[in-house]
Amino acid sequence: MQTMRVLIVEDELKMASLLRRGLVEEGHAADVAPTGEDAVWMAQSHPYEAIVLDVMLPGLTGFETCRQLRNAGVWAPVLMLTARDGVDDRVAGLDVGADDYLTKPFSFAELLARLRALVRRGGGERPTELIVGTLRLDPAARRAWRSQTEISLSPKEFALLEAFMRRPGQVLSRLQLLEHAWDFAYENRSNVIDVYVRYIREKVDRPFGTHSIETVRGVGYRLREDEE
Ligand code: CA
Repeated sequence: MQTMRVLIVEDELKMASLLRRGLVEEGHAADVAPTGEDAVWMAQSHPYEAIVLDVMLPGLTGFETCRQLRNAGVWAPVLMLTARDGVDDRVAGLDVGADDYLTKPFSFAELLARLRALVRRGGGERPTELIVGTLRLDPAARRAWRSQTEISLSPKEFALLEAFMRRPGQVLSRLQLLEHAWDFAYENRSNVIDVYVRYIREKVDRPFGTHSIETVRGVGYRLREDEE
């Protein structure tokens, strides 16, 4: 079984040491942060596979702590401990980027099972916005900007730009771009990518005097991370 390094954020010492001891007995490593402020600092200096975060904390609440963790680029899965079986707490937790919740009181076996499931799923980066140089893209809102100027894109142009922005600096073949930006039903015309790259250059580069989408002869295209 995979060994986890877990950060426990809980101000009640008895609860915190119980959880810590349980994890250590199972062969995992665990640290305790008594406040949200400590947790934000610790999670940025150590790579944790998972974070157990109590909602009821002095100072920063669990919700606010979770939001600050995500803002700080900490993407470890967060299991929130809620004091009551309140739907509001669960929704609020998921809204600020928590991955799962457990209502107190709970069994240690259940906590362990939830943690294992979260760690298996992984804590990949889930930024709300993609930023490459002065290009910014919000996949959920379907909006894009160059610096402060919003750029209007068709759905296909947006999908193609998103494919580039998820892999900045990498050379992407026409086939890779087709796979990321078009669904399988799309007729596979060999020049469709070239046509759409031309369209998006007209929108994201030409008006701004930038040359961010580079042609890599014989291979495909690359979104440059600088914009010289
Ligand atoms: Ca507490």
